[in-house]
Amino acid sequence: MTRPLIGILGGTFDPVHRGHMQLAADAIHALTLDRLRCVPAGRPPHRGAPAASADDRLAMTRLAFADMANCEIDDAEIRQEGPSWTIRTLERLRAEMPDAALVLIVGADAFLGLPTWHRWQELLSLVHLAVTNRPGADLQPSALPPQLQAVWRRAYVEDRAALRTQPAGCLVSFTMTPSTVSATRVRQAVSRGEAIDTLVCPTVEKYIHQHHLYTHVAHPGLLA
Ligand code: ATP
Repeated sequence: MTRPLIGILGGTFDPVHRGHMQLAADAIHALTLDRLRCVPAGRPPHRGAPAASADDRLAMTRLAFADMANCEIDDAEIRQEGPSWTIRTLERLRAEMPDAALVLIVGADAFLGLPTWHRWQELLSLVHLAVTNRPGADLQPSALPPQLQAVWRRAYVEDRAALRTQPAGCLVSFTMTPSTVSATRVRQAVSRGEAIDTLVCPTVEKYIHQHHLYTHVAHPGLLA
């Protein structure tokens, strides 16, 4: 049986940037996704509070992906009360699309942080995982921490066509056009009065300036 293949891209999107957009476009292409669901995190429990409000992050995510075909924005985490656990979102999406193959897309840095996620060992019972390169994060299987090496040994499949044959449970990797952009870099650039046109798309750049976002963010160098 071959199933529709739906990608899920979660993120704080504080703000959404060209790295996210490249990741989305390359994932759609490399994994031949039927659709991509972008899920801005409401209140991420594993990191400090986002600099921009949930509504601003949602609005910017909508702007960034407005012209990307087959891409939809999921505002459920933004709308819900309390912390946003990825596992709960995946349970919701699984209930919504019981027969689809779902694949959670993560950059290498997020993949390396997986063992810190709430109930992370259950992820592959709900979705497939697709991991991609990100400068600064080493994805060599031999460099992975033991818990992730075990997942890699158990779930990694070379052939991405396998993703459509079962609803969940496989780990695949794909190569995206490398992007050194991060949301941290965007926030810092804005607060320093630097140009951000190479970091975010024009509509998001305009939104950031119109709403005076990120004008006062802490610089790591100034905290020491
Ligand atoms: P911050 O700098 O605030 O930590 P970020 O740039 O990492 O933010 P997130 O919204 O936390 O952005 O990332 C959401 C997802 O997108 C994660 O899976 C992350 O690995 C991935 N991602 C973000 N930027 C890139 C990039 N430049 N290349 C590859 N993956 C990326």
